[in-house]
Amino acid sequence: MSKYWSDLTASLVPYVPGEQPKGQQYIKLNTNESPYPPSPKVLEAIHVATNADLRLYPDPTCDKLRETIAQYYGLTKDRVFVGNGSDEILAFAFPAFFSADKTILFPDVTYTFYPVYAKLYGLRFNTVPTDEEFRINEELYLVPNGGIILPNPNAPTARFMLVEQLSRILQANRDQVVIVDEAYIDFGGDSVVPFVKEYPNLLVVQTLSKSRSLAGLRVGMAMGHPDLIEGLNRIKNSFNSYTLDRLAMAGAIASIEDQAYFEETNRKVVATRERISEALKPLGFHVIESKANFLFITHPRKDAQQIFNELKNRGILVRYFNKPRIDQFLRVSIGTDEEMDRFIAELAMIIG
Ligand code: PMP
Repeated sequence: MSKYWSDLTASLVPYVPGEQPKGQQYIKLNTNESPYPPSPKVLEAIHVATNADLRLYPDPTCDKLRETIAQYYGLTKDRVFVGNGSDEILAFAFPAFFSADKTILFPDVTYTFYPVYAKLYGLRFNTVPTDEEFRINEELYLVPNGGIILPNPNAPTARFMLVEQLSRILQANRDQVVIVDEAYIDFGGDSVVPFVKEYPNLLVVQTLSKSRSLAGLRVGMAMGHPDLIEGLNRIKNSFNSYTLDRLAMAGAIASIEDQAYFEETNRKVVATRERISEALKPLGFHVIESKANFLFITHPRKDAQQIFNELKNRGILVRYFNKPRIDQFLRVSIGTDEEMDRFIAELAMIIG
């Protein structure tokens, strides 16, 4: 094995997503997917696209989808980028906007993807402390830095930031790119998309995986100044100029156009989240306030890994992170009401 390759494999610890079980049927509350199917209009649009022109390459600049997103947000399409899931957009954003000689900032407990990508591209980063309840203090982001990435709400903590906090950060960091990762914004948080016209250094990244039930289709989107969009395009075209396939584009457009379905499913998820947050408290759990489609919970007397294992034995899969600071927490995605009732009933037996 070459030295280059052995050094790289030794230093590069890949991002490991939550388990996608093969075989056994679980109540699956471990990867923040939606428990509801996508809009029927999405399936219809994919069906039509399947019967149309699959022999032809897709539009490499995804104009129709970008136009649909632009209209949805009251922007022009030169402010919109799309990718195969928001992970792909983030993967392009790191080499596009951050450089090796400056330090990027993100919270100490956050999406594991960020440190993995920073390391892959040889970027320095500082993890900014959060308080004991994982709250983000915006003051700590007003120091010299080479770029910032903030997930709002944060994952896996579910903590959300207020628009006022984010606008302070944006104002103080006009010379570098601030990425706000809004993967979970549609479950009650306040989006900063309206700020993209005001701050040319702001890139907002969103996904159709969670609030639009399309994790399997792999569609993410980013909104920002045309120069930032151009930066992402340069990186994208170096890898693969055809980003999304025809089916993904057709499904994504239909989803964004079906506002009523989107609102109705998200309303259900939020109502279930609030109900389950309350139901966990009498069992002794501490629940971090959430504006996401998941809860981050801990029990003062019962070991989190043990609860994880016992739930798994009972056919319920949640997420456990064996990492400093959060090794006594579980992240639980919001399922249907029936799934969550079963979760609470099993948990009550485990806690005893
Ligand atoms: N950002 C955050 C904070 C996430 O939790 C996830 C989901 N794992 C993503 C981005 C990526 O989602 P996707 O690639 O499905 O759009």
